[in-house]
Amino acid sequence: MEEIKTKVLVIGSGPAGCTAGIYASRANLKPILLEGEQPGGQLTQTTDIENFPGYPDGVQGMQMMNELRDQAIRFGTEIKSRTIVKVDFSSRPFRCEDDRGDIYIAETVIICTGASAKYLGLPDETKYMGLGVSACATCDGFFYRNRNVAVVGGGDTACEEALYLSTLAKKVYMIVRKDYLRASNVMKKRVEERENIEILYRCNTVGLFGEEGVEGAHLVRDKGTDHEENLDISIDGFFLAIGHKPNTDVFKGFVELDDQGYIRTAAPCTSTNVPGVFAAGDCADPIYRQAVTSAGTGCRAAMDAERYLMDHNEF
Ligand code: NDP
Repeated sequence: MEEIKTKVLVIGSGPAGCTAGIYASRANLKPILLEGEQPGGQLTQTTDIENFPGYPDGVQGMQMMNELRDQAIRFGTEIKSRTIVKVDFSSRPFRCEDDRGDIYIAETVIICTGASAKYLGLPDETKYMGLGVSACATCDGFFYRNRNVAVVGGGDTACEEALYLSTLAKKVYMIVRKDYLRASNVMKKRVEERENIEILYRCNTVGLFGEEGVEGAHLVRDKGTDHEENLDISIDGFFLAIGHKPNTDVFKGFVELDDQGYIRTAAPCTSTNVPGVFAAGDCADPIYRQAVTSAGTGCRAAMDAERYLMDHNEF
């Protein structure tokens, strides 16, 4: 076991973490960035990214994250392939333990652990990942222009995704397990009125099919009842919108979380309820969840940490 002292510990390596690394290292704070279980974060699972400013021809998710990582290293961010498994924020400097038992003694911590989209848990979701299965319409919707797609879920996110997709796709099915939409009235009304959205109530997806990518979904309507029926829909894209789970379990009891587990920050600052602990990116953002908004909060968190250290004469 090693004890490692640092002024800034960045936990997470998505756009928020890497941007925090770039800013903190350019401020000469010599940050340590821990990559976590999924180096590069959620974007490494997508294919083309076409909505991140500065890439007029689009960029592969993995390539963009490698470049952000290189940019953080260029200015002196020390990157380690470790995951934080335990923290103690009860006094400063903060103590964070990684998966190999090393302890980081940090003057400030920037949490950028992201969020994970929830999936149904079907083996076909894994089989067709990147081949028609997606959990982000804003990221991938463009590839389904004039095609048929389905969105799973009946909440506000599902409605938003369906409405967005309806402006691109020929037809959008919403697969809703109940006989009503949980979404707010305004969103419900919008999807109900949109001509190319068809809502399939009381339906569950049991599988996907297709040769090289998704070509359709097997659904069951009224599952478990005496009028249960099977139906197949023909689709090219299958979008999950059944919620996200912020990756914040390890911080529970140490920083304030909202009822969905997102870290509460004092917007527009990235401060948490623990002075010296900041949060950026999707772990603190239930609303926007875009690479560019994450990068923006990563920048703010590094600047907030820098100011905090200056105020405490620790710069
Ligand atoms: P929600 O939890 O509100 O909705 C999730 C939806 O997915 C529900 O319809 C749920 O069904 C369905 N679902 C969950 N698990 C499964 C499953 N295993 N199989 C099939 N369906 C499933 O999540 P959202 O992401 O939609 O919203 C999260 C929060 O963010 C909400 O408070 C929402 O209001 C807010 N939000 C607000 C927006 C806005 O104001 N513009 C935009 C987006 C989100 P069931 O209803 O049966 O449980």
